[in-house]
Amino acid sequence: MSEAHVTGTGVHSGERVRVRLHRCDGPLAFHCGGAVVLADVDNVVDTPRCTVLGRDGARVAMVEHLLAALSVAGFWSGVTIEVEGPELPILDGSASAWGEAVAALGPPPPTPDPFDVLAPIRVVHERSTLEASVGESSLEVRVSFPEPIGLQSWSGRPTSYGDLLAARTFAFRDEIAELHARGLARGAVPGCGVVFSPAGPDTPLHTADEPVRHKALDALGDLALLGRPLGGALTIVRGSHAAHVRFVRHLRTLAASMSDRGESATGLRTPGPA
Ligand SMILES: [Zn+2]
Repeated sequence: MSEAHVTGTGVHSGERVRVRLHRCDGPLAFHCGGAVVLADVDNVVDTPRCTVLGRDGARVAMVEHLLAALSVAGFWSGVTIEVEGPELPILDGSASAWGEAVAALGPPPPTPDPFDVLAPIRVVHERSTLEASVGESSLEVRVSFPEPIGLQSWSGRPTSYGDLLAARTFAFRDEIAELHARGLARGAVPGCGVVFSPAGPDTPLHTADEPVRHKALDALGDLALLGRPLGGALTIVRGSHAAHVRFVRHLRTLAASMSDRGESATGLRTPGPA
């Protein structure tokens, strides 16, 4: 079976991390700390500026960029991810290297049935709003940050989601200084993302809208925790990992209640094996 290796530094721990991806039969699963943690929303244990999965005492953080690359490539199952370290490496802050690693795994298994949106769904969490409506699959993301980022939006269809992989994570210089003062973000070094100050970014942006593209990438990674594509038009305003996770949990609840009422034939299908 095909496999791929990725090595880098964890942005939070500063530790060197080795990751091995290989094909398997079964759901997307992280093997870390002696445990198997399925890439499933039920296993989200924290969302501190990244998404953290955990089970049986094991934790793996920063899973969203790899999960985005997997879903963009059509891998909703069939990959085991062995992680030696507490978090996935930050790399250059984008999912480009993950995309290359996933491409080395060959063609994905058949795509599972989508979760079809049959009526408007709205989830609000703190400053974030996620709204899904009936229609072709699409994603629109809007952000609002202090200058020099300001208001940005990105929208696309699944065929353009691959454009998001190269968008790097970002932070503001003051935030980084504060995190370092608290002993956090030890691996946040130049080259692992874009740092904004009032004067602008510390490195040339790939595209002027790179920040919102990265937020869209983060959303794809978190949405992958549903285990199937979303069949509908999703708009996310000022999203966050916590809000994305709340939305995916809401979809799970909807699917389960439809299933309990025997309404799966209407298009809301029950979740696949977790
Ligand atoms: Zn991110």
